Amino acid sequence: MSKYIPTIGLEIHAELKTKTKMFCSCLNETFNIEPNKNTCPICLAHPGTLPVVNKKAVELVLKIGMALQGDIPQFSKFDRKNYFYPDIPKAYQISQYDLPLVFGGVLRGVKLTRIHLEEDTGSLEHGKDKDGKEVSFVDYNRAGVPLMELVTEPDIKNAEQASEFAKELQLTLKYLGASDADMEKGLMRVEANVSLGTIVSGEFKLGTKVEVKNIASFSSVRGAIEYELKRQEEVLESGGKVIQETRGWDASTGTTFSQRSKESAHDYRYFPDPDIPPLDLSKISLKEIKASIPELPGVKRLRFQKEYGLNEEQVNILVQDLALARFFEESVSEIEAEDNINTKKEIQLIYNYLTSDLIGLMSALKIGFSEIKITPENFSDLIEMISHDKVSSRSAKDILKKMEETGEDPHNLLSSLGLEQVSDEGELRLLAHKMLAENPKAIEDFKKGKENALQFLVGRAMGALKGKGNPGILQKIFREELLKL
Ligand code: ADP
Ligand code: ZN
Ligand code: MG
Repeated sequence: MSKYIPTIGLEIHAELKTKTKMFCSCLNETFNIEPNKNTCPICLAHPGTLPVVNKKAVELVLKIGMALQGDIPQFSKFDRKNYFYPDIPKAYQISQYDLPLVFGGVLRGVKLTRIHLEEDTGSLEHGKDKDGKEVSFVDYNRAGVPLMELVTEPDIKNAEQASEFAKELQLTLKYLGASDADMEKGLMRVEANVSLGTIVSGEFKLGTKVEVKNIASFSSVRGAIEYELKRQEEVLESGGKVIQETRGWDASTGTTFSQRSKESAHDYRYFPDPDIPPLDLSKISLKEIKASIPELPGVKRLRFQKEYGLNEEQVNILVQDLALARFFEESVSEIEAEDNINTKKEIQLIYNYLTSDLIGLMSALKIGFSEIKITPENFSDLIEMISHDKVSSRSAKDILKKMEETGEDPHNLLSSLGLEQVSDEGELRLLAHKMLAENPKAIEDFKKGKENALQFLVGRAMGALKGKGNPGILQKIFREELLKL
């Protein structure tokens, strides 16, 4: 074991899903939009303009805060964080310094320090102009988009835990409808503070932290932290000191590199924004916001395990996607309404057909749950048919495809496609005799103890029936017949 003890704290930004920007009425839309289209004198910081707080953005942060069990203060305010960069037209960012909207909270056992609201910056693009000269372009469509920042306590012990935390936060933001939180699109961005502590005369002593930026994926969260922990250990082992600084993560080389020595709060000369009156949060109906919080992923996982007898892995897959979880539950409730036979087995069938066949079909067609023609009702009807041996699993896949093509219910398709499963024992036994007569080698193999020979014969019979034979009954019949020989 290493004598160094890793400590990690995260700062996570997410763009909020509002109609308009944080302080003006420009649309909050940044993708596939002509550069600088969604701008106005306010978000371009023309002198004399006045920002007006977006109430919806405030409510979303309060909603996130309450969902994560944070405390909402009576008053909050906005402050100016002063610095210059071309992507920030005012030369300050409106943020929150000492009175954020949310104090404390917890997620996955990690304590939160705070959640505050600020505005996003514009974006820079470095390229060439029409004469081939190296230039930088600035696009202010993103400038002034509402951005929440969540800060954790230095409570995280390793890279894996940090990445799990970030994933759970992303999922929670999606459940809350607060952010799409897509990391690839930069809608959620992670900064990791990493240090190595030591035990000095029996007491834990925090180490100097390094802040790592430019983390744009969950694997980068892990990679950057793992790399940084190793780098710091090497520095300490060779007798050096870790310097407090900001480093960037280069995903292509898997390394961090020094960007600048860390500035501290006083460098930003924070002061209350004189253009924005303090927020009196007692005027906001917290009860109403609280009532709008849906069942969160953690609670849903436990309930799915208990209610549906699914295992941890299955539950994780379902809960990972709200629309998938909803389709699953609606299908199960149809099954439960149908009859009480085999419900447990049918729930497993729903899970299997949903997560492999239906999802597979949807991804081949590049469509989501909002676009599919298959309703949970029709889907659960198909599951009933499979469970009651009315259709083979191979035919069920064909029917599923047709259900998506036509939107028809599976009973109609079963007869119109002539895919009723053949379960008649007399008919299947006749076929078995024929197959045995045609395949003497399989009989020999079976007698030598090769179980495969039985599967081979079932496969032959299935082929002859175009996949419509009942495999369980065929198996039973072939075994009986082979043992007679
Ligand atoms: P700063 O003033 O440098 O921004 P903060 O105290 O605001 O530092 O903390 C920023 C983030 O760094 C928080 O997520 C916090 O948990 C984390 N952090 C603070 N000290 C350490 C440390 N020694 N090691 C790792 N993370 C730390
Ligand atoms: Zn604007
Ligand atoms: Mg800080």
